[in-house]
Amino acid sequence: MTTNESVIDKYLHRCIRCGNCKFVFRDYVPSCPSGEFFGFETYYASGRIRLAQALERGELDWDSSLLAPVFACTVCSNCEEQCLSPHANGIVDIIEELRRKAVNKLGPLPAHQTFANNILRTTNPYAEKPNHQNLREKHGLPKSAENVYFVGCTANYREEAIRDATISLLKKAGVDFTIVDERCCGSPLIRTGQVDQAEALAISNKELFESAGASRILTSCAGCYRTLASEYPAIDGNDDYEVLHISQFLGSLIDSGMLVIEQPPFAEVITYHDPCHLGRHMGIYEEPRQVISSAGVDIIEMESNRHNAWCCGSGGGVKSAFKDMALETARKRVQHAQSVSADILLSACPFCKLNLSDAANGEDIEVLDMVELLDRITN
Ligand code: SF4
Ligand code: SF4
Repeated sequence: MTTNESVIDKYLHRCIRCGNCKFVFRDYVPSCPSGEFFGFETYYASGRIRLAQALERGELDWDSSLLAPVFACTVCSNCEEQCLSPHANGIVDIIEELRRKAVNKLGPLPAHQTFANNILRTTNPYAEKPNHQNLREKHGLPKSAENVYFVGCTANYREEAIRDATISLLKKAGVDFTIVDERCCGSPLIRTGQVDQAEALAISNKELFESAGASRILTSCAGCYRTLASEYPAIDGNDDYEVLHISQFLGSLIDSGMLVIEQPPFAEVITYHDPCHLGRHMGIYEEPRQVISSAGVDIIEMESNRHNAWCCGSGGGVKSAFKDMALETARKRVQHAQSVSADILLSACPFCKLNLSDAANGEDIEVLDMVELLDRITN
């Protein structure tokens, strides 16, 4: 989670200002939600790199006018996908390092400070009373088990249908699992430059996984998955459990007959939105599609899909601090789904569902998570 070597020093000089990061390569449809919303160079990856360069060289001093360009980015990584420069994989690292520096120099954005304070007080960014003991009692879950279902704060406190569908699927399949007194995974803090607090959360969660005796952690949240799978091991390099997104686990339950699909094929047109933290950041594109297909559903793809998918607009602290940008970005994604005449827009992340649902309000399209769809049609 901490960087010993400055990624800014490492990658900064490699941007050649070609502008490829603004569009999907050769399709020339927009790729950057931030640049598209603000319409100004500083809000594209190339502009942010230039900003970092000027700060590093002392040509620019930190002041509050830099906060919006630094933080109004969903860290969706589409710029990295489209950039052909050898530094491409370092763009989001540069942006996240800029954020850590901004927090050091000027403090977090007020909206980000609020959720950090909430996490300190209640263990979750929504300031909700922790409910894990209630969930264990309600569902008759043991204290220790082979699998821990890491619910994640958004599924637990804002998109409960995703939590309930996931629990229902695991119970139908007879999976040995439990829920621990989890803390926020730390993703909202890491993405907004507040890294120190995130490390403490990670250590607490790892202790909880260990005391539950779990050899596998399952989660239905793309942001939690990325954090647990790729950032927790960096803390002590000592994770003796496997981390899977639920889409990587459900296929085996269907294949082995532990989950039985009961409903005949759908009449509705269904499309799938790739969450950035699951797709571009973790390379998981096909598993959710395979699970959805094995349920007898034909996915009609949107024009921008898989590694080129347009972001839902919620990540990187944008939904809390730049609400208009988050909503406008999600509206575009809903329009992409409508352009293929979708009745249902599926995703595999509660934060995507939350933001896409806000944008689809009043529209004739249903936004669902893949686990909700699967729970409706399995026994
Ligand atoms: S970040 Fe990459 S794609 Fe964008 S201008 Fe620089 S070199 Fe070109
Ligand atoms: S991470 Fe996404 S929003 Fe941020 S600069 Fe890159 S493409 Fe734009």
